Amino acid sequence: MPKVTEKLEFQAEVKKMLDIVIHSLYTDKEIFLRELISNSVDALEKYRYLSLTEEIEKEEISLEIKITANKEEGTLTISDTGIGMTKEELIKNLGTIAHSGSKTFLKKLSENSNDSNDVNLIGQFGVGFYAAFMVADKVSLITHSYKEDKSFLWESDGSGTYEISSADKKTRGTEIKLYLKEEHKNFLEEFELKRIIKQYSSFVPFDVYVGEEKVNTVQAVWTKNKNEVTEDEYNEFYKFLANDYQEPRYKLHFSTDVPLNIHALLYVPKENMEKAGFGMLDPGVNLYCKKILIQEKAPDLLPKWLRFLKGVIDSAELPLNISRETMQDSALISKLRRVITKRFLKYLSEQAKNDETKYLEFYNRFANFLKEGAATDYEYKDELMKLLRFESSKAENGKTVSLDEYIERMVPEQKGIYYVSGVSRDAVIASPYMEIFRKKDIEVLFTYESVDDYIFDSLQNYNEKQFISADQEGLELPETDGELEVENAMAPEIEESMINWFKKILGPKVSEVKASKRLSDTPAMVVNPKGMSNGMERMLRMMSEDKGLNTMPKILELNMTHGLILKINSLRITDEAIASLMAEQLLDNALLSAGLVADTSALIDRMYKLMERTN
Ligand code: ADP
Repeated sequence: MPKVTEKLEFQAEVKKMLDIVIHSLYTDKEIFLRELISNSVDALEKYRYLSLTEEIEKEEISLEIKITANKEEGTLTISDTGIGMTKEELIKNLGTIAHSGSKTFLKKLSENSNDSNDVNLIGQFGVGFYAAFMVADKVSLITHSYKEDKSFLWESDGSGTYEISSADKKTRGTEIKLYLKEEHKNFLEEFELKRIIKQYSSFVPFDVYVGEEKVNTVQAVWTKNKNEVTEDEYNEFYKFLANDYQEPRYKLHFSTDVPLNIHALLYVPKENMEKAGFGMLDPGVNLYCKKILIQEKAPDLLPKWLRFLKGVIDSAELPLNISRETMQDSALISKLRRVITKRFLKYLSEQAKNDETKYLEFYNRFANFLKEGAATDYEYKDELMKLLRFESSKAENGKTVSLDEYIERMVPEQKGIYYVSGVSRDAVIASPYMEIFRKKDIEVLFTYESVDDYIFDSLQNYNEKQFISADQEGLELPETDGELEVENAMAPEIEESMINWFKKILGPKVSEVKASKRLSDTPAMVVNPKGMSNGMERMLRMMSEDKGLNTMPKILELNMTHGLILKINSLRITDEAIASLMAEQLLDNALLSAGLVADTSALIDRMYKLMERTN
């Protein structure tokens, strides 16, 4: 039968990826080997798993990876005895990119300059295979799936197309032959290959041969005793597992027998890739049973907000053939999730205690995950809240406090945990809300992100202490040494008539006007009814369709002793037109200092009018 060769076109995204990879100025080209070995490992792991859980025809060949250099041909071959691929799988797996994370990665790559370190992340984003084209100008791959008695040859030079034809590989697995570019012939040297494998792939759980020699030491680090593993081994295992070139930030290794048999090794990476703009992370912890991989990056193993963790969880109690569907509602997995999550949160709180500087470095990068957990996962809220840090009126600029520290410093009779939101530290400190707290020497936490306000608002309290937004009306503050001297600058009936006048002028823009009991330096401020806060309002506005300028009607508090208020009071009799302009301006200023931008065009117009009237 004549050999039929089909010529196919790569999907546009793959073309783009190949173009970037081929022309990349990235110097660490040797990572291609790590990527190809890692693909072989996946294929071997899948086969091992299937052979243990399903009735498949078993071909008795050992599970291993072989790397062969042929100096005459200038080729390097990586072969494995993994699951192999059918023709359809070849087309789908090597001709297209489906995963959304890979697409985000591709976008990042094409935006950044070519020599960026980002190329090193190729494996993390599910496109590692294409790294082969960094060093080869042609790749030819022969594969034989365990599913059928057929094999195929796939060939490409990395330009827009690839070819598939049938082949005669008799045994299961995949063989990838790289026709190395002239300048990369150094990868034909065995010592060089061994060095690279030792560096990146020594934790591969299958034998890896270079020529005749076995080069890796097979070990499941996570099942060992802590004292049998060196710091270097932990770090190297992390790099292997996470495809990261940096060392991890934190590592937690533990084993338990009760309530479940667990070996867990968890890592926190140096950087938060989500913050770096790579889109939502996939979960990064693999599930094993007695060293056999059950599921890579298991999605239901840990709560979603722990998706930044990398690592391995091994439990002898898991049935090998637990499926994705049963994982979701398996009582065993829930139990596993709870034990591990609690243990990890405990670990973090120990870290916070033992090395605060290091913890804060972690916190500055990863707080979004802890906050997401606190806001969405009721089960762990107490532990998570303990881990949160906030700027405060009593912490120096740039320093933070925990809720526990705050509670310790509360003054006698203090009703709860006060907080106020704003766009920046300076804005919050300058806001009228802080006046009374400064006078009374009561600490206030500052929140800059809507999620903070959301957490406080939805959880309502921590350790039986209520969260109270400092921009609320009718705060019942404890009496301290710094009491306000409320002089009666105005007779009660005048006060009442002025308040009524303000209500008339401001109309529906305010829900109420009151004499303030807490202002001393500022003429006026807006406050919220119980259950509402400026931060919540900003968030609601951000989420709503109408991003317009209308604020919800506010309670306006007037400082009856302030010169400006007294002035308005006399002007309203002698020159009501200007007094009304001033009253409206007063409200807008109060909204501005609350971080709730008022209708600026009306505000500016009014300012001009007021300026014209000065003499
Ligand atoms: P990733 O491995 O992260 O999914 P790659 O681009 O490296 O991304 O590989 C794409 C897919 O091609 C893999 O998911 C796998 O299905 C298939 N593949 C690659 N190498 C092999 C191999 N040696 N054996 C079997 N399948 C493979």
